Amino acid sequence: MNESTPLSPIGWRLDNSYARLPDSFYVRQAPNPVRSPSSVLVNDKLAAALGLDPAALRSPEGVAALAGNRLPEGSVPIAEAYAGHQFGYFTMLGDGRAVLLGEQLLPSGGRLDVQLKGSGRTPFSRQGDGRAALGPMLREYVISEAMNGLGIPTTRSLAVTATGQPVQRERELPGAVLTRIAASHLRVGTFEFAAGRGDKSDLTALADYAIQRHDPGLAELPAEERYLRFLEGVIKRQASLIAQWQLVGFVHGVMNTDNMTISGETIDYGPCAFLDTYDPATVFSSIDRNGRYAFGNQPSIAAWNLARLAEALLPLLHEKEEEAVRLAEEAVGTFADPFREQWLSGMRAKLGLVLEESEDDDEALIEDLLTLMKEQRADYTNTFRNLTLGELGEDALCLTPAFGDWKQRWKLRQHREAGVTDEQREALMLRSNPAVIPRNHRVEEALEAAEAGDLTLVERLLHVLENPYAYSPEQQEYASVTRSDAPYRTFCGT
Ligand code: AMP
Ligand code: MG
Repeated sequence: MNESTPLSPIGWRLDNSYARLPDSFYVRQAPNPVRSPSSVLVNDKLAAALGLDPAALRSPEGVAALAGNRLPEGSVPIAEAYAGHQFGYFTMLGDGRAVLLGEQLLPSGGRLDVQLKGSGRTPFSRQGDGRAALGPMLREYVISEAMNGLGIPTTRSLAVTATGQPVQRERELPGAVLTRIAASHLRVGTFEFAAGRGDKSDLTALADYAIQRHDPGLAELPAEERYLRFLEGVIKRQASLIAQWQLVGFVHGVMNTDNMTISGETIDYGPCAFLDTYDPATVFSSIDRNGRYAFGNQPSIAAWNLARLAEALLPLLHEKEEEAVRLAEEAVGTFADPFREQWLSGMRAKLGLVLEESEDDDEALIEDLLTLMKEQRADYTNTFRNLTLGELGEDALCLTPAFGDWKQRWKLRQHREAGVTDEQREALMLRSNPAVIPRNHRVEEALEAAEAGDLTLVERLLHVLENPYAYSPEQQEYASVTRSDAPYRTFCGT
């Protein structure tokens, strides 16, 4: 592709670098056409950032492309091969219901994957139908865009397109295709796939490709250093990502190694949800019976997954296996510190501690608040929101004497920050504590209406979540918690 390639009315400028990897990493697979596609949602701002015309994406030609009925020019569609540890067990997988159309070359430079999810069967589909239902695709759209609004690295959602065909789940549901945009779809599981096949030259090609896309600064390093630095880079990005999840109370729900990216983006919004009541043992997913992916386990699971990446990379780390293992273990050991540091500094910001210098007791101040929140079953987001707005006193937590004591310690701690004004503290808290998150009942209510053909609630929700730190009047009603007796459950049958 070069500068003289003519632009289409939609604005596609696709390259297909993944399809230039060795053959084992993908199969050529066109999306399967659908009966009567129609546009449900198009993300105007994201489209513009990609150099695509949102109006053209809503036109018959655009809808045909987003439904998989007509290939955009320049597309070499593929299904990617990968493996993964699912709930701890190794399996060979691959895109069973997605195809990569290619990489859109951005007006600002760089490239992003354009993937259709729910686009029909592929050689990796196993027993699956290759399709997706409208509700779960809208859910991924809403929650991924909410994550983006929160400033957390994530794949994005460009569009949801109805297929006009039902999909059979527990009951018949309307089908849809999600257009997912990602820094890449390289996963920990992609490396496990290469390592599992035992072909060192393919593994090397994959690592060099990942470096080119995500760590181009490492490309010139000698091999002995390059792959170790690459591994350390992935670990650092994941440590940062998981710290950000923990700070906003995000539960991914299915942190299998095939759902962990090399780029450091959150990927695969299946059974995920945000905490309401604070409890590290929180699990939303109906299939996670042992709580492997509970909120409080996410950091240790991430480290476990990264150990699988390190294992896959062993042949590239050192010629001598013993030395490679030592380097890998050392690298995986580097997850904990940056994770803890970023989490602590994020928590200090949530409490309005402005200065860089921390005190030894800051950690205890944070942990003690979390303990009280857990004991009183306090809402995670709203506790910090209330601390930010000074709206203390109404809920169970604030009425306890222990909270009174904690609050006094907190205020004293704030005032030990010499020279910091109340305004500075407030400004920091406002940008560190979201006023809104995608509340489970709000998401459900919006999806239900959308399935019945009314998109107004989804659109309002998306608008409110676009800048969750705005503290705008319309966000107020979205902050309320409705408690039901039954714990919230998410389902994988998407
Ligand atoms: P996930 O749990 O969404 O990460 O998916 C795990 C694996 O199952 C991936 O390889 C998916 O492509 C595949 N998969 C999920 N749903 C379907 C489906 N309806 N048809 C075919 N493959 C699927
Ligand atoms: Mg997945």
